Amino acid sequence: MPALKNILKQENTRREVLVTSYVVPDAARCVQCGICSFNCPIGIDVRRHAWRGEPVKDSRCLTCGECVARCPRGVLRFERTNLFEPEKLDFRGLLEAAQQSLLVEHH
Ligand code: SF4
Ligand code: SF4
Repeated sequence: MPALKNILKQENTRREVLVTSYVVPDAARCVQCGICSFNCPIGIDVRRHAWRGEPVKDSRCLTCGECVARCPRGVLRFERTNLFEPEKLDFRGLLEAAQQSLLVEHH
């Protein structure tokens, strides 16, 4: 059942990136230029997080990677957290997606 496998794989990949990553700064390298904050599409003050050496644990963060990509000093990176636990996976959602795909396959 390749379709189901693909869905599971895609879903896992998406979750790993979106749910289990924070932007984490290396405060010692930050020169407080503010380019990261300027480029954040939702206005998170990434510079302040970098100043404090704190991960961007803001529920609004889209994990779009814009701040990581724009920082000229390579201060920011995505770091996985321990949120990726099997019991937190949305199995109901996965099942529904798989059922949808099977319905499509049979028509
Ligand atoms: S862009 Fe990089 S160096 Fe500039 S404030 Fe942000 S984290 Fe610091
Ligand atoms: S990953 Fe995107 S949304 Fe999150 S702080 Fe960086 S620029 Fe803003």
